Amino acid sequence: MTATAETLELYTRGNADIRDLTPAVSAAVKNSQLQNGIVTVFCPGSTAAVTTIEYEDGALADLRRLLDEMAPPDRDYAHNRRWGDGNGHSHVRAAVLGPSLTVPVVDGRLTLGTWQQIILVDLDTHPRQRKVIIQLLGEGASP
Ligand code: ZN
Repeated sequence: MTATAETLELYTRGNADIRDLTPAVSAAVKNSQLQNGIVTVFCPGSTAAVTTIEYEDGALADLRRLLDEMAPPDRDYAHNRRWGDGNGHSHVRAAVLGPSLTVPVVDGRLTLGTWQQIILVDLDTHPRQRKVIIQLLGEGASP
């Protein structure tokens, strides 16, 4: 059993900016030579989320609409009253979606569905520089 990790850095625009992380995660699996195990994709931070979706404009627009309906920016948030940073909706959206994803790796490949991509959703109210941790655990990974 071995473990390796790499950190991906990217700039996001905020306000439900959605990025496809699949190419980077696939590359990390390939580089690690992991054959069988799991890859965890985690974004440190309480206003971003990692999940999967079919990465096409319609589904991305539908997700953004759902986020607006679920946690509208203009609702009263206790977080905003306390801190005045105006991103109460960002925090609750991130909490609901979750900060990480685990994908099984079988025979050196991510076991994603054909129309299933790994995405980072930046829910903050302004552009951010984000780090995403990609950790690989299992058999066949180089040290
Ligand atoms: Zn805040």
